[in-house]
Amino acid sequence: MTDLKELYDYVDAHAQEYIELLQKFCRQPSISAQNVGMREMVDLIRQEMGAIGVTPDVVETSGNPILYAEIPGRNQDRTLSFYNHYDVQPVEPLEEWHSDPFAAEIRDGKLYARGATDNKGSLLSRLCAVKAFQAVYGQLPLNVKFIYEGEEEIGSVHLSEFAQKYPERLKTDGFAWEGGSKQLNGPLEVCFGVKGLLFIELRCRTANSDLHSSNAAIVKNPAWRLVHALATMKDERDHITIDGFYDNVKAPTEYEMHCLETLQFKEEETKQRMGLDGFVNGLTGIPLLKKFYYEPTANIAGFKAGYLGEGAKTVEPGSAVVKMDLRLVPDQTPEEILEKVRAHLDKRGFTDIEVVRLSGEPPFRANPECLFAKTVVKCVKPVYGMDPEVFVSSSGTTAMYQFCHAANLDAVMFGAGNDASNIHAPNENIILEDYINAIKMAATVMAEFAVAKEEDA
Ligand SMILES: [Zn+2]
Repeated sequence: MTDLKELYDYVDAHAQEYIELLQKFCRQPSISAQNVGMREMVDLIRQEMGAIGVTPDVVETSGNPILYAEIPGRNQDRTLSFYNHYDVQPVEPLEEWHSDPFAAEIRDGKLYARGATDNKGSLLSRLCAVKAFQAVYGQLPLNVKFIYEGEEEIGSVHLSEFAQKYPERLKTDGFAWEGGSKQLNGPLEVCFGVKGLLFIELRCRTANSDLHSSNAAIVKNPAWRLVHALATMKDERDHITIDGFYDNVKAPTEYEMHCLETLQFKEEETKQRMGLDGFVNGLTGIPLLKKFYYEPTANIAGFKAGYLGEGAKTVEPGSAVVKMDLRLVPDQTPEEILEKVRAHLDKRGFTDIEVVRLSGEPPFRANPECLFAKTVVKCVKPVYGMDPEVFVSSSGTTAMYQFCHAANLDAVMFGAGNDASNIHAPNENIILEDYINAIKMAATVMAEFAVAKEEDA
């Protein structure tokens, strides 16, 4: 391993500067779903990249721009790419936050803000790593590319357009993808793949407006229609009963099952943190992990109908909407599952329920034996003092497929989050120590991947 003590010392000495930069980024809202602050965020990133002498190309799309930049390094034959996103999730329910989601308040060694972990903390950890590397050693050890998109949280709608338009910008030897998590007081997680996702709305309208609820005797209720339809899609044992849903699910390989055995999933702590009595079907051990990482889901993300204000209001809704996200595993595809949902509902007489696709992302798994994956794994111990936990697939989703599948690229996820970062939820936070370690980790990966050779890996 390369001796990076000088660089680590430099990062420690400049920690305050990096933390203030993260606060600055978090104080700029950038909610893609609500189109809040997106241009201002782009300007802020340009400004910070400018500070390290990089002028990103702001690639316009019909949505939010994608920022692209590259910096040549000493080893011109080796390229490392950083994919991150600058958009964040909406903050609702606001009343559950203990401080303003864009105040970026620091309490007990954590910075609380929407986007602190997902994904501004990880984005900046890599940018700061480049900054530190340049300050300490001058030139970067290898070519670095940055790709920052502003629509990850709404399904990366324009990423494949970018990928098709600029195939040469995708070319790389390894993608450090988005971010990742670390167990509280435990190992860093390194992850080689993601589940896919189909996000849909089921919409039902039975009358042209809400009605006096006495009409419930003679007018179909759209909320009941949706409830009945939903009840056909999953049984009480959590088995998804959409016709043909599991047809293309590949059983985990021996290697994939073996990876589960090496994980140290803390069931009791997780239950406590989430306030649960137990997991679905009382699962525990390997079957629990298998379901979590290798099996698809059909989740009701939201249900809206009628009156939900204070007190009673005798009203019959005229329309109702359900939002659903279905996490997919190899070889399911969003297109296939969308068709199956439609056919399933039609077959049962729910032709009045409209199915609208909001976004879709196929699942993706990189090769865990590739040089980049092996290098990242090797870099963890010098920074964190212990080896990582290796995941074949995350339980979540990002747009890896759009970049990596066609171009046959290898992507690895690692970053600055932890089990209790509350990403997408109220009180999202990042542990400042994790953030600083993520800067060191990104710098270590640059140094090691620059010199990594297949025969030593
Ligand atoms: Zn996210």
